[in-house]
Amino acid sequence: MPISEFDLIRQYFADATASRHDVLLGIGDDCALLQPPAGAALAVSMDTLVEGRHFLPGSDPESLGHKALAVNLSDLAAMGADPAWATLALTLPGADTAWLGAFMRGFAALAAEYGVQLVGGDTTRGPLSITVQVHGFVDPDSALKRGGGKAGDLLFLSGSIGDAGLALLRAQGAAPSDAEDGHLRERLDRPIPRVTLGRLLAGRASAAIDVSDGLIADLEHVCTASVTGARVNLSSLPLSPAVATECARGNWQPALSGGDDYELLFSISPERVESLLSICLEAGQQIKEIGCLVADSGIVLVYPDGRPSEEIPHGFDHFRT
Ligand code: ADP
Ligand code: MG
Repeated sequence: MPISEFDLIRQYFADATASRHDVLLGIGDDCALLQPPAGAALAVSMDTLVEGRHFLPGSDPESLGHKALAVNLSDLAAMGADPAWATLALTLPGADTAWLGAFMRGFAALAAEYGVQLVGGDTTRGPLSITVQVHGFVDPDSALKRGGGKAGDLLFLSGSIGDAGLALLRAQGAAPSDAEDGHLRERLDRPIPRVTLGRLLAGRASAAIDVSDGLIADLEHVCTASVTGARVNLSSLPLSPAVATECARGNWQPALSGGDDYELLFSISPERVESLLSICLEAGQQIKEIGCLVADSGIVLVYPDGRPSEEIPHGFDHFRT
């Protein structure tokens, strides 16, 4: 018997995630009723994944459930916010209960890790598209914005960069495969949102962004908002062995403009660096200095042989032809 929209909601969404005390009314009514803490700013962000555009047709639904939430949590991380609630708009070609069950397993496992409750959404029929909105809390005075950077601030990057971009090249047959494939694919399919790091950076970093469209493209956003330029030492980039090998071959594209990294790129004034480094070490958060903000506009890339270049590889842009 075909499953009804209301059965779908009851079975797959209503109790998908743990309940929070600040949810006065969750899924099932016309609206959710939510109680943000006094004094906190509500940080809100939304991202859509469209089949054929953001993921390959036939992608593993459990990974999609993870990724749809992860890319949104990454935006909260980039503001230094503490995740709380999510809403989910799903457009599905049909009521494929096996697909939905797997999708919600991926979504709920990540939600549990960060104490996020799914509080509402919308379910419609059509070409597969997934939209998640997340809501988090942040002290408005310590929220991490793109525009707070100053010339002389040091630039840092979390984790490693270029893995997802290289995984995509390999999936498309555009780069040779090797034993690193599994690790790279994991980085593309199941990004780790740097929520813990973002919360440590709140009130400490001068500017921050999550790297979703490529390192250089997202650095450009920080520079534009901060009214600075930047200098990046490419020999300092945190790279996995596979990406380091590509760079050594002269292929910097995955590292500089691959996108889908979901690492945090941030600036911090030099006198705050030492204390941040010890805080990150204690919390097991990996960060690496990659350059600095400068007064002159433009981004200068310093290649490992010392050669500077101002020819900037572009990141991903849906509307650039
Ligand atoms: P309405 O017709 O009033 O807009 P719906 O029938 O669309 O309400 O949804 C009923 C309830 O189920 C609402 O609380 C809504 O937030 C929730 N809901 C519907 N789809 C989803 C989904 N994909 N994820 C989470 N909650 C959902
Ligand atoms: Mg209604």
